[in-house]
Amino acid sequence: MMADRPHPDTIAVGAGYDPAAHHGAAKPPIYLTSTFVYRDALHARTAHEGYLAGRAPESGPDEGYIYARLDHPNLQMLQERMAALDRAEACAVFNSGMAAISTTLLSLVRPGESVVHTSPLYGGTDGLLNNLMGPVHGVKAFPIGDAVDEAAISAAVDRALAHGRLGVIWVETPSNPLAGIADIALIARIARRLELQQGAAPLVVVDNTFMGPLLQNPLEQGADLCMTSLTKYAGGHSDLLGGSVSGRFALVEPLRKMRTLMGTHLDPHGCWLLLRSLETMGLRTERAGRNAEAVARFLRDHPKVARVTYAGFLPEDSAARATYERQCAGAGSTFVFDIKGGEAEAFRMLDALRVLRLAVSLGGTETLICHSATTTHFSVPKARREASGVSDATIRLSVGIEHEADIIGDLAQALERI
Ligand SMILES: *Cc1c(COP(=O)(O)O)cnc(C)c1O
Repeated sequence: MMADRPHPDTIAVGAGYDPAAHHGAAKPPIYLTSTFVYRDALHARTAHEGYLAGRAPESGPDEGYIYARLDHPNLQMLQERMAALDRAEACAVFNSGMAAISTTLLSLVRPGESVVHTSPLYGGTDGLLNNLMGPVHGVKAFPIGDAVDEAAISAAVDRALAHGRLGVIWVETPSNPLAGIADIALIARIARRLELQQGAAPLVVVDNTFMGPLLQNPLEQGADLCMTSLTKYAGGHSDLLGGSVSGRFALVEPLRKMRTLMGTHLDPHGCWLLLRSLETMGLRTERAGRNAEAVARFLRDHPKVARVTYAGFLPEDSAARATYERQCAGAGSTFVFDIKGGEAEAFRMLDALRVLRLAVSLGGTETLICHSATTTHFSVPKARREASGVSDATIRLSVGIEHEADIIGDLAQALERI
């Protein structure tokens, strides 16, 4: 018997593409065209009416594509597949995770408003809020101390309301790189309570990059929008950049309009690569997750390792653990560990690696490793960096799909060199 809704692994393989609509081609053709020819003058008018009304080009015989910055067939296919994976009504796809984030925040937050966010934030999001929207738009950002604690979330909300109307609560969970957990359902409940107070509730937007659609579904937890950097686990091969935002049609449609103005759409070839990559996301997520658990256990038991922040090791009986178990279907495969020592010891270990590659980014087939303080967190002042848990001994690891014995073997021989 067919289930009501196909399994996500099945959605990832085929949703959003119908061979019958494309000459029977088993795989999506790439529509390399910047513009689309109208059948006649009336068709041109109805196509533009359709765009302004927010109707998808394939939704009726009189609709149509206009110009690839507005919309194009490969974008539609990928949006439909990502919407299905995120269990959303609609999705907008962008040319990077940051394009998705900047288009969303610049659409949703008015000058003078405030934003509440989990902390630490992805560096690009932090920069957008504090270096652009702060000084240029008078938007003030307020961090949440402990995002599984109701009092701490409410305190950040109260501070924000004292500054100005609260436009957005931006949630990253698990956080990069320390796997800090935020309770999406709790934050969504607190946001809804503000509806009477300020006319409309602030929108809760979750950056789901660290887990991806197979391990965490923010919309089902009560979030309004789910943002994902497709560069990471969706792309999965460290060879493209992309981003997406999913949610109710009424919220996503204005983001597509803003995307047209900002030119932040993803091109046909990038969409096609992502459609192809998504087909193996289930297999990759499973294998990388199993490897990550084995690597995390090896590191936890190693005498030269001081700490491992793998989400699977969250302390029993903690609020973070309870939230993690309710919210996530797995621990993912990116985490940090601290070696005993500092920068010199970390560098010695990293330079002794033979299989693992030294690079930022995450979610690829290959295992990537980097020294956080001198790479991803280089621009964060030392005091703030250390307060957020990133010391000179902190190393981030994105575990890939190689054989686990080779990953562990490489780490073992490199740790001996410290
Ligand atoms: C990488 C990343 C982003 C930004 O995505 P890009 O595709 O690099 O622009 C945003 N949030 C998180 C959590 C990320 O890891």
